[in-house]
Amino acid sequence: MMPQTHSFETGANRPVVGRFAPSPTGRMHAGNIYAALTAWLVAKSQGGTIVLRIEDLDRDRSKAEYISAVQRDFELLGLTWDHGPFFQHNRDEAYSEAFQVLERLGLVYPCFCTRADLHAASAPHRGEKFIYPGTCRSLSAEQVAAKSLLKAPAQRLRVPDAMYSFEDMVQGHYAQNLADDCGDFLIRRSDQAFAYQLAVVVDDAAQGVTSVVRGVDLLCSTPQQLYLQELLGLGHPRYAHIPLLVAEENRRLSKRDHDAGLEELLARYKTPEAVIGHIAGICGLTPTCDPATPEQLLETFDIAKLSELFSDPVQIPWS
Ligand code: GLU
Repeated sequence: MMPQTHSFETGANRPVVGRFAPSPTGRMHAGNIYAALTAWLVAKSQGGTIVLRIEDLDRDRSKAEYISAVQRDFELLGLTWDHGPFFQHNRDEAYSEAFQVLERLGLVYPCFCTRADLHAASAPHRGEKFIYPGTCRSLSAEQVAAKSLLKAPAQRLRVPDAMYSFEDMVQGHYAQNLADDCGDFLIRRSDQAFAYQLAVVVDDAAQGVTSVVRGVDLLCSTPQQLYLQELLGLGHPRYAHIPLLVAEENRRLSKRDHDAGLEELLARYKTPEAVIGHIAGICGLTPTCDPATPEQLLETFDIAKLSELFSDPVQIPWS
């Protein structure tokens, strides 16, 4: 039998609310600045607003000093927000309610695999996607009881053998068979912390987010998020997965790349406008790298041309 197809109309008929969703694990760098700038332009060019959500779900990696630094960095760059800041560290009640809905649907099961906790709290960036082989899917009640004596389980969500598809504003049509391309995925870690996929869906809905702009490395998480939204009866934001800024050897730009850190960028380009202008130029948001504020870039930004802005929709070399 052919797997069923679930196609989603995303972001329909709602006010445009975009978001900045930084993980406070370091100072901002060119990659996050470019993603935030594009999210801001996409929302503002449609008369929309921006939510700031600090994704501090991963408590071990999130640092208080970066939580305030990230807000100062956005302000300095003229990347304003209209709602928030919201945080994830105090949202357990909301995540737990959603978790219980999924449990009542009979779709959650305990998983004792040791790999289970890996990456559960963080967004799975490129190369980190792990397809769960279903090891703990059919354990009997006795097996669960016996294993629970030795180890606290994580919790997984069953996925159907069905295609989940949507139209991405940059990448076009994207479809994934959840069973084959993803597998049952984690929604809670064994230490009881909720996982990224669940938290992001609950928060986007609670904060009224209808426009998600983020790196293409998270494209493969979107079918999971559409599935969660469907199960929880939530609306589907409109998605734009933008190319990644990459360092040498096509490696995703990260905090290791010091020439891309905001401090170094300010030392090199001197003003926030020059940093914004340089990043906008490199990424093809503007024809030149001339200094500009986000407000000035808004004057020429045309959302209808979003997908054409990027000559390579997957990656842009940083320079
Ligand atoms: N907090 C994630 C990150 O900084 C972004 C997650 C998302 O946009 O859904 O990588």
